[in-house]
Amino acid sequence: MEKEIIEGRQGEVLLRQSANQNSKKLFLESYGCQMNFSDSEIVASILQQEGYDTTNQLEEADLILLNTCSIREKAEQTVRKRLSQFNSLKKRNPKLTIGVLGCMAERLKTKFLDEEHLVDLVVGPDAYRDLPNLLQDTDDGRNAINVLLSKEETYADISPVRLGGNGVTAFVTITRGCDNMCTFCVVPFTRGRERSRDPHSILKECEELARNNYKEITLLGQNIDSYLWYGGGPKKDFNKASELQKATAINFAKLLDLVASSNPKIRIRFSTSNPQDMSEDVLHIMAKHKNICKYIHLPVQSGSTTVLQRMNRQHTREEYIELVDKIRKIVPECAISHDMIAGFCGETEEEHKETLSLMEYANYDFGYMFSYSERPGTPAHKKMTDDVPLETKKRRLAEIIELQQKLSLQRMKTYVGKSHEVLIEGTSKKREDQWYGRISQNAVVVFPKKDNTKIGDFVKVKAIQCTSATLIGEQE
Ligand code: SAM
Repeated sequence: MEKEIIEGRQGEVLLRQSANQNSKKLFLESYGCQMNFSDSEIVASILQQEGYDTTNQLEEADLILLNTCSIREKAEQTVRKRLSQFNSLKKRNPKLTIGVLGCMAERLKTKFLDEEHLVDLVVGPDAYRDLPNLLQDTDDGRNAINVLLSKEETYADISPVRLGGNGVTAFVTITRGCDNMCTFCVVPFTRGRERSRDPHSILKECEELARNNYKEITLLGQNIDSYLWYGGGPKKDFNKASELQKATAINFAKLLDLVASSNPKIRIRFSTSNPQDMSEDVLHIMAKHKNICKYIHLPVQSGSTTVLQRMNRQHTREEYIELVDKIRKIVPECAISHDMIAGFCGETEEEHKETLSLMEYANYDFGYMFSYSERPGTPAHKKMTDDVPLETKKRRLAEIIELQQKLSLQRMKTYVGKSHEVLIEGTSKKREDQWYGRISQNAVVVFPKKDNTKIGDFVKVKAIQCTSATLIGEQE
């Protein structure tokens, strides 16, 4: 298998992957969050049964699928631009099928077929099992669409084809959908109601990864701490469950404990944590297991309680600070990162300053920072005004980024001079003679290769220098 990462930022990452065996060729490109990359592995598995192998050669593809992201307008523009590049291919090969998957497919539905004439196939995130039928339609010359959202679908029984990876780190999806209804966010509309996956199937997938020599598993969900298995069905229906179901339900802390203890030689990460759902129990489980990485991605979006209220986030600034304090107390060596939105509807200069001061308080290792992008159909679009001028959004975002760079550098300096366990993930992009990997706190480290080391090894590396983004080390 081969992989090529074309751009590397959250929201705009894309990956090409390839493997060879079957007779038909699938070119599959993924955009957006880790969940999309994980979903693409499910899609590849379903289509492998239909005779498709993935290719990274556009020209030889019988089927091109883009797994898309809708989170910001720019993400959608990227996909539109990419689609326009397929025009000449389609002219040369009229039998070529072009399909759009994921959040943009779900958001635009039939509009996609109206607006982008070269698209033959539109499939939402809960309808991938229907791909073989839909492809039958496109083979017969008809456009095909399925954007039905499901309350149950978790693809629990599908063994993902590990695409384009390094063979040592893998994603395992444990929840789908989101019930949070943050006013800025399109996810509840594109990925449906929140539901959790059967823990047995999660453990089975982790065991299989361990058998195949994987060394790190990242459990994935839009709101991972909200995981709750009570026999299947949407989280919102838990109150209707029987007493027995309630008594035997498995929450995220229990699941994390199970995954970590049944795979002691594998590093465990998880993402994304919504502050209101992160329990103290999870922190104690993190502290208990050496193999759970000491890193929490804890999006806050704003440091101002009034903005958080307008965003319909279920916590205040003070509650978030309390949580950060708890993390620092229970898991002292834990790194914390954030997502932040600059210039949400009605944001004042005072509110923006509260964001900056929260960042200083939390002393974040890292952040994904965005300016607010109004998304059609969201509560903010329907009920609020996107009234912060573009120039102000840009300036505030620049201030947030500048501060984060300062904080990141400070945090990185605390890792210098210390020895870290590092999982070797690959060759450094800049230097053929250096490895790159990550420490438990998720910071990337590069260091000279030693003869007897290989991808997948855990090695001790002493950090000797740093930038705000990378540690430079040497193997001990
Ligand atoms: N489930 C997580 C949460 O709610 O905190 C992450 C959701 S989203 C896939 C990833 C990030 O994109 C969000 O945390 C938020 O910072 C950003 N985002 C979502 N909607 C946005 C919008 N309309 N404009 C700008 N950024 C947005």
